[in-house]
Amino acid sequence: MKVAIVGAGISGLASGYYLQKMGFEVDIYEKERIGGKAYTHKQGEFLFEEGVNGFLDNVPETLELASEIGVPTLRANQNAKIRYIFDDKLYRLPSSPKDFLFGDIMPFSAKLRMFKEFFIPPQPQEDESVASFTNRRLGEFFTKRFMTPMTAGIYASTPQSLSINAAFPKIAKLEKEYGGLFRGMLKKKKGGAPSGELTSFEFGMSEMIEKLAKNLNIIHKPINSLEELCSYDKIILATPAYESAKILKSKYPTLAAELAKIDYTPVAIVGFSGDIKPEAFGILTTQLNTLGILMDKYIFPHRGGIRAMVGGERFRGILEMSKEEIIQMTLNDIEQIIPNHNLKVEFFKLWKQAIPNYKVGHLKIVRNILDEVNKIDDLYLNSNAYRGVSFNDCIKNSKELAASIKYDNV
Ligand SMILES: Cc1cc2nc3c(=O)[nH]c(=O)nc-3n(C[C@H](O)[C@H](O)[C@H](O)COP(=O)(O)OP(=O)(O)OC[C@H]3O[C@@H](n4cnc5c(N)ncnc54)[C@H](O)[C@@H]3O)c2cc1C
Repeated sequence: MKVAIVGAGISGLASGYYLQKMGFEVDIYEKERIGGKAYTHKQGEFLFEEGVNGFLDNVPETLELASEIGVPTLRANQNAKIRYIFDDKLYRLPSSPKDFLFGDIMPFSAKLRMFKEFFIPPQPQEDESVASFTNRRLGEFFTKRFMTPMTAGIYASTPQSLSINAAFPKIAKLEKEYGGLFRGMLKKKKGGAPSGELTSFEFGMSEMIEKLAKNLNIIHKPINSLEELCSYDKIILATPAYESAKILKSKYPTLAAELAKIDYTPVAIVGFSGDIKPEAFGILTTQLNTLGILMDKYIFPHRGGIRAMVGGERFRGILEMSKEEIIQMTLNDIEQIIPNHNLKVEFFKLWKQAIPNYKVGHLKIVRNILDEVNKIDDLYLNSNAYRGVSFNDCIKNSKELAASIKYDNV
């Protein structure tokens, strides 16, 4: 049985791997570069990740896949636990409840407001923004100081734009199931922060991508319409939602219209050599157009560089700027955070549509998409646009998709 997969990002490659293992004959079509958003750029002595930096080691599917294909994983060193937020000044993120209580990350009044959460009755909404959720449960200060940098770091978005149910389903569930966040965390005996350690590969994310691709049949060709794939028994579109919309438009306009509703944020990555202190995993910001600084050189071997992540939903204006203007703006921002640094620009990458922005209403769009796609035999959608943006989500969803195809048809 022949399967065509469009897109050789991790979603397409992992789907291909699982399906081939099950006995399907798999062809993967790729219009640009194998790896998609997971690509390690090599420049002299430096390795720069153009997209994915790493993944948390708390999702077994990723570790199992790496082990099955024989790529040893590499945990970040202890510096990965040192994280900062830049707001009016640099704050180190507390590493224990005691540090949080006695540290200066929040004024006393904001801490008090946060702890009132325990007594706030649940008011779950059908959907609401992350900001609306955390404002009502934990206070506006919490939203600004913690959720603004966190949403920038994960989604390159903002708490005002993202849907709590789509972007942070586990947090939303604590209110729905236990009546509140602290109540839920106490019952589950777990804190709110994601567990798991940052992990990658010795020579970057491309190590896993290249190993996966080696045993798959990749055809370097853009696919513009479904008709081009009519000789296959099954088709998986592992492309960003806006690309899937283009491929499906002529044959399935309703489905294409729903796919086109999924928004993407733009992100520029500026890579530097040089030093920056303090040595840490990185710094996320609350207001600047530079969303964060990732200090790869202090957490993984061979990286050597520092990267800044710029733009996102907070500043879509990068799309109207030249490369030189973005770099200058980034340098000015970094100067505000760490004055007198000696960073030298080494690398630049602009992703015009980098990360799906799971806006308020996202889950409804995904339900509509599934309703439409379920009406079509032998067509499947699989990418980070629908059910989780992380590298881990892509692998887990690919495994589940492959299993569902098996039960349906073989
Ligand atoms: C800057 C950045 C940093 C990130 N950092 C992290 C991180 O640290 N950790 C993490 O877990 N996640 C991170 N992510 C998210 C992560 O990149 C994605 O979840 C994941 O890599 C997406 O994989 P994908 O296969 O779904 O899509 P993509 O990687 O976008 O792959 C889609 C592929 O389809 C191809 N394609 C598109 N249209 C066509 C067509 N018509 N014909 C043929 N081929 C086509 C594209 O060229 C591409 O190769 C980051 C993303 C970005 C942009």
